[in-house]
Amino acid sequence: MASPSMPLRSFINGKRVRPSPQHLYSLYDAATGTVREKVQSATPGQIRDGVIAASESQERWARDYSPSDRSKVLLRAARILERRAGEVALAETGDTGRTVRETRHEAAGAADCLEYQAGAALTVGGQHVDLSGNRSWGYTRREPIGTTVGIGAWNYPLQSAVWKSAPALAFGNSMVFKPSELTPTTALILADAYSEAGLPDGVFNVILGDGSAGASLVSHEKVDKVSFTGSVETGSKVYTAAAESLKRVTLELGGKSPLIIFDDANIHDAVSTAMVANWLSSGQVCSNGTRVFVHESVLEKFLESLVKRTSRLKIGDPTEEATDLGPMISRGHMEKVMKYIQIGKEEDQADLLCGGEPILQETGGYYLSPAIFSNCNDNMRIVQDEIFGMVMSVLSFRDEGEVVQRANNTAYGLAAGVFTNDLKRAHRVVADLNVATTWINNYNLAPVVLPWGGFKKSGQGSENGLVGVESWTRLKAVYVEMGAIDCPYP
Ligand code: NAD
Repeated sequence: MASPSMPLRSFINGKRVRPSPQHLYSLYDAATGTVREKVQSATPGQIRDGVIAASESQERWARDYSPSDRSKVLLRAARILERRAGEVALAETGDTGRTVRETRHEAAGAADCLEYQAGAALTVGGQHVDLSGNRSWGYTRREPIGTTVGIGAWNYPLQSAVWKSAPALAFGNSMVFKPSELTPTTALILADAYSEAGLPDGVFNVILGDGSAGASLVSHEKVDKVSFTGSVETGSKVYTAAAESLKRVTLELGGKSPLIIFDDANIHDAVSTAMVANWLSSGQVCSNGTRVFVHESVLEKFLESLVKRTSRLKIGDPTEEATDLGPMISRGHMEKVMKYIQIGKEEDQADLLCGGEPILQETGGYYLSPAIFSNCNDNMRIVQDEIFGMVMSVLSFRDEGEVVQRANNTAYGLAAGVFTNDLKRAHRVVADLNVATTWINNYNLAPVVLPWGGFKKSGQGSENGLVGVESWTRLKAVYVEMGAIDCPYP
């Protein structure tokens, strides 16, 4: 991809900031290792400008635009993103290295979220409560929180930006969004879409930069709420910094999720699911089911099919239609994943059945072959740590009680999958799993109509679904007296 003359720049108060030869850094093409774009990080002054723009525009957005007006802006933005779906896919593939076969659905997914929140803006309100016959009653007003900050991770950049901004804006908040420094492009496309859809200047701003920009946003006194997606380590810093000024916080963090395959499962479907739960986005998905527990009686059959099908996958240029798996996001991340593969090879009795090698090195890209370890035990580091790459650990089990206890034996509580044809067992097991999202006979689907969050170290609060509205609104109670005042004093 040819380098454009202009660097990518922050979007503040309805326009890109002026280009400057300072504060530039490079984005690398994960498929070739070459520089493909320059990005201009926001200066401290621009970060302040972004927050001020959001703060000054918020009241008007909440007061002068009715829920119906705000809803229409979101619906128009949805149509604009759909129109730009091809460009969104290439931008997302360019930034992340994810295949176009995946990223071509990104704009449609964003449009779904915008439509859902546009509907929620019109329908979700407060509650009426009778207090004393018809003499007094109360009601609740659902109000915007105010100026919000969204901070995104690099694996699903547009999804992060939309999942945060659509409900924030729908309910009358403003937002400053900071995408990951590795994946800034589609947040800027979203900003353009909102503007073209009629969003007033300042209501949605994009600040480009690294963790220091994120930290400045989190600590800014005019920010009322922070919604963060990223690692547990950074999430903990964000939580601590936000606590200093008692800001509201939502955290969507990492995981090490179990996928449990019982002996009655259809093995072909179970293998398909294990592949989706591990190889999607080259393994760079927070909810991936990387601890695959397989009942001992079907283990051999499962592994044979899994290795055969995984070895057939076409790894290569993510912009090519036939490619199944693209590169890792960056050289640094590829090296981290390779370290874990080495640890896995050295640990205990585990067997590396296939993959785990750097490949296609002649391209300069960050390519790894997907690794399957069998014979793993619960205490191995590759089984306990979030690796965020294509490293699947297969563990065998004998009975239901045992596997549930072992599945829950982790600091994380993001997601889990259960594969069985026994309905009662499926529901019993998901009820016992200490995680926020579960799938029965499928994996890694995240429709915006269902809440998304994390238990234990995987997060705080929920976004999406109707309950996600709680994350973007505050409730005011109103007491209304219609009768005489009952006064205890003469
Ligand atoms: P990360 O924590 O390194 O960075 C996330 C974001 O935080 C980036 O935008 C980064 O610039 C910013 N940041 C860094 N330091 C900061 C600070 N001190 N204050 C404020 N912001 C700061 O995570 P990553 O490597 O970009 O993403 C991978 C992680 O994200 C994985 O752990 C993955 O599981 C998780 N993730 C979770 C979800 C979810 O929904 N639960 C979704 C996607 C990714």
